[in-house]
Amino acid sequence: MAESRTEIGTLGEFGLIEHLTKNIEQRQISTLVGVGDDGAVLDHYGRQTVVSTDMLIEGVHFDLAYTPLKHLGYKSVIVNLSDIYAMNAIPTQLLISIAISNRFSVEAVEEIYEGMLAACDRYHVDLVGGDTTSSSGGLIISITAIGEVSPDKYVKRSTAQKGDLLCVSGDLGAAYLGLLLLEREKKIFLESPQVQPSLEERKYIVGRLLHPEARKDVIEFFEENDFRPTAMMDISDGLSSEVLHICKQSDLGAVLYEEKIPIHPDAKDFCYTLELDPTACALSGGEDYELLFTVAQADYDKIKDIEGISIIGYMTEAEKGATILTKGGNSYPLTAQGWNAFS
Ligand code: ADP
Ligand code: MG
Repeated sequence: MAESRTEIGTLGEFGLIEHLTKNIEQRQISTLVGVGDDGAVLDHYGRQTVVSTDMLIEGVHFDLAYTPLKHLGYKSVIVNLSDIYAMNAIPTQLLISIAISNRFSVEAVEEIYEGMLAACDRYHVDLVGGDTTSSSGGLIISITAIGEVSPDKYVKRSTAQKGDLLCVSGDLGAAYLGLLLLEREKKIFLESPQVQPSLEERKYIVGRLLHPEARKDVIEFFEENDFRPTAMMDISDGLSSEVLHICKQSDLGAVLYEEKIPIHPDAKDFCYTLELDPTACALSGGEDYELLFTVAQADYDKIKDIEGISIIGYMTEAEKGATILTKGGNSYPLTAQGWNAFS
């Protein structure tokens, strides 16, 4: 009898993680939060640590044809810090592991590190270790970030309540549009290398892709104003996908208002030149590294006037599902078409 074989694509990235981790038992009382959130939370006699890890693979997560090495280093740190902030914690240390082929010179790796160290400097974190090995092909960067959170102040994805307001920081969809632009320019360059791309007027969307920042400022604002979201995560795979994570893990539904989704004018402008729908880009684009969080209605006053925070909807009972109410007054179910490494 032939052995059965299941393609990973049938489960998808999240399905695979769930499949592999569903029977894991926690043995340590110090494990407060395990698999399933932006970071794990560990308790050490009242002091709490948040840990998170992320891997970036050449050809899957980045293309060196248009990614400057210094930016790559910077961004690889940012994506990890973003997960620590998403737990309402402050990052403190990093471990960086790299696998490199002989295609890279010492100078090239130095450039990547310049970017990594610039991010460490800006976010005030220490690089305390890692691992270096060779790779038979592409470049691999794996980073583990460690952070601190005041006891029990961490914020999970699973603790939103019915009626909570759904909020996002910054604007969405621009990084994805930056990617479309750079992919388009790469194609043109390969066909006619004499054509120089003019990226100057598209600086915003390209910048959102190549050198994102993590929302340290938002987490600091929460702390200063004695405010805590009821649930939170960062937006790496696209708004739809992340809203569905909060719904699933909090056992709730959600309503999103299309007109409230923040999209930068430069992102909209590029959408129109490509005849794309800006809302679709914000919902499914990904790599925004903004924060998605829920707020108790009683805390509305604490967040309503903050510049750069948009209230985009609210949480409902699970039976209502997750829907988006369009500008035209129609309601559609939200679907996760977010970025998927296995599609
Ligand atoms: P994020 O997008 O915030 O980085 P992921 O979607 O990558 O989060 O991961 C979701 C959760 O699954 C996290 O808690 C992560 O630690 C966990 N996870 C991902 N891959 C694995 C794995 N291979 N084994 C165990 N846990 C994993
Ligand atoms: Mg995350």
